[in-house]
Amino acid sequence: MIFIKKNLVEKIIAHSRKEFPNEACGILVGKDGKAEKVYEMANVDKSPSSYLMEPKEQLKIMKEIRNSELEMVGIYHSHVASEAYPSSHDVELAFYPEASYVIISLKDKRNPRIRSFKIVDGRITEEEVKIE
Ligand SMILES: [Zn+2]
Repeated sequence: MIFIKKNLVEKIIAHSRKEFPNEACGILVGKDGKAEKVYEMANVDKSPSSYLMEPKEQLKIMKEIRNSELEMVGIYHSHVASEAYPSSHDVELAFYPEASYVIISLKDKRNPRIRSFKIVDGRITEEEVKIE
């Protein structure tokens, strides 16, 4: 289960809409599976079907997280035309077994859907998203 504050969910959705028609991506930072902060990242792929976080920017944020009391609780990205379910490419690039992979679908633009998954050794397990 991942807990995400309501204002952060709104931020993620706004970011996804801003990057449309390309995918948006970012990092959720917090503690004990609770996201308390969002880092919007640049998608260097600039693609409607994949994302790659800007490596230097990612490194910098990972360093910042290590030096804080917080941890990376998840990575989010948007799907512009498909369901909020990990693609095979997403699974290949899921390097963090402890992280939640949050996906926002803009397939129905008026009703964005948000789902979250753990991806471990290529295996996808959906988890509950608690918006508080
Ligand atoms: Zn994806």
